[in-house]
Amino acid sequence: MKVFISVDMEGISGVVSGDECSGADKDYGMWRKTMTLEANAAIEGAFEAGATEVVVNDSHGGGRNLLPEELDPRAVLSRGQPLPAMIAPLDATYAAGMLIGYHAKRGTACAILDHTYSGKYHRILINGREFGEMGLAAAYAGHFGVPIVFVSGDDKLQAEARDFIPHAGSVVTKHATGQTNARCLSPQKARDLIRAGAREALSRLAEMKPFLVEKPITLDVEFATTSPVDQAVCLPVFERAGARAIRGVFPNMVELVRLATLMTRLVG
Ligand SMILES: [Zn+2]
Repeated sequence: MKVFISVDMEGISGVVSGDECSGADKDYGMWRKTMTLEANAAIEGAFEAGATEVVVNDSHGGGRNLLPEELDPRAVLSRGQPLPAMIAPLDATYAAGMLIGYHAKRGTACAILDHTYSGKYHRILINGREFGEMGLAAAYAGHFGVPIVFVSGDDKLQAEARDFIPHAGSVVTKHATGQTNARCLSPQKARDLIRAGAREALSRLAEMKPFLVEKPITLDVEFATTSPVDQAVCLPVFERAGARAIRGVFPNMVELVRLATLMTRLVG
C-alpha cells in the first residue's frame, strides 16, 4: 500500500507568522525541524496502518524545507521546484494521500496565514465553489482515484476539510485566534495525535472516497488587483471575466492545476 504525504508549513504546531516559514526568521531552522518531525509522525502512523511505501512531498514554498537527515529513513522525499502542480508526484499508483501542516483558504476569519497559493489571488472557484489548497489537493488526488484520508493544521483547516472531505480524519495542531496568533498544542502532543490520527484514518481506507468534481471544470480566479488579468489572458485558455477576474474551462483537474500553476509563475 503506497501512501503520499504532502507537507506544508503554515499549519505546523507553533507556527504563527509568515517569517517563521521562510529564511527571514532567525528561528526558521527550528520550525523546519518541527515540520520534519510532524511529517515523521504521519509516516509512522501510515506504516503502523499497513503502508508499504511512503513518499513525502515538501509542498511549502520552493519545496526545500524538510530536513532530509531528520526524515524517517523509510520514506522517500520529493523536494524542490518547479513542479507542474503543488503535489505533482501524486498519481494513480497511490492508495491514499495525507495533508500535513495545511492551512485554510484565503478569506477565512481567524485562520493562521490564510491564503490560496499566493497573495495575488483573492478567490479561486471550481464550478462556482470557493476552494483553498486543501480542496484543490483533494480534487487533484481525486482525479487519480486517490482519497485524502487525513489532514492536520489549525482548527479552521479542520472545519474546511470537514466540509470538503467529511470522511477524512483530522488533527488540530493549534486553535487560531487571528491570522498570526493561536493557542498552540505542544509540538510533542501534536505529533502524538498526528501519529494516532494518521494510523486510524488509513485503517478506514475502505470507507474513504476520492473527492471528485464534475467535468468539464470551470475555473474562476479573482485576483487582488487588475494587472494580473492582462497577463493571464495572454494564455489562450483564459478569458477576462471581470476587472480582476479570469475564467477558463478544463477537461480535468490535472490540466486545470497545471495551467493554474504556470499562470501563478507568469503573472506579477
Ligand atoms: Zn505553505
